Amino acid sequence: MNSNYLNKKHILKKMGGGTVSRRDFLELTPAGSFSLLGFSFFRVQQDYTSCIIRGDSKSNKVALTFDDGWEASPIERILDVLDEYKIRSSFFVVGRVLDLYKDLWSRALDEGHSIYNHTYNHNSLAEEENFKGIIEWEQAYRSVFSRGDPDPKLIRFPGGAGANSNDVWDYLANYNYIAGVFWSLSGNDTFKGATPESIRGASASMQGGDIVLNHFLERTADALPYIIEDGVTKGLEFVPLLELPGTPIFRPPSSISPLKDEKLRYG
Ligand SMILES: [Zn+2]
Repeated sequence: MNSNYLNKKHILKKMGGGTVSRRDFLELTPAGSFSLLGFSFFRVQQDYTSCIIRGDSKSNKVALTFDDGWEASPIERILDVLDEYKIRSSFFVVGRVLDLYKDLWSRALDEGHSIYNHTYNHNSLAEEENFKGIIEWEQAYRSVFSRGDPDPKLIRFPGGAGANSNDVWDYLANYNYIAGVFWSLSGNDTFKGATPESIRGASASMQGGDIVLNHFLERTADALPYIIEDGVTKGLEFVPLLELPGTPIFRPPSSISPLKDEKLRYG
């Protein structure tokens, strides 16, 4: 798949360098990384799309993220908890449920949360035939909310699968995605036998800079107040993904082996 560098102009503009040519850009970033929105990015291959794994561990800020959204009740409950603690979060919602639970997602946007791409049908991005689910998600988002794409465009790979394929990164770069968002800590809430206690326990090692993965599940809603209270007790502050500061650790996708890395298997 060919990359279209013209599509990356918006990134250069956001860097305050709207007139910077790609050649200048590369010269400015000899190490192959750049800063945007408080994150540092690795360029992936020849493109600017990147992996985000975590934020700065010297910070006290943590980003909670929630995925999927198959059922209404846990969405509502998790929104209630986040509202109670005045925490804004980042959601990677499957496209199929955007319309189904439109009122809840609209409430989420109204309350300052962000909704990002998790593909339309949650099909694995390890298969090229499923790449179209990325665009189908965008169509659903624009249609349901009568607004443009999320800005910036971020995606979480269903199940964490496919990140070691160059084809998917080329595809994402062509559609102006600036990053695939992974995670540094999982509540393992989709694991068989997971309980509110196990989810809280899996979050016990939470530290500054973490991107925490959980899902819209009843047991996660049960655990969430405890996870938040535990974090606050440790002096942590919960922020949206894009407000996670500092110089995070990034890995280019070639170093990620989702099928071998238990932490990356259940996005
Ligand atoms: Zn998922």
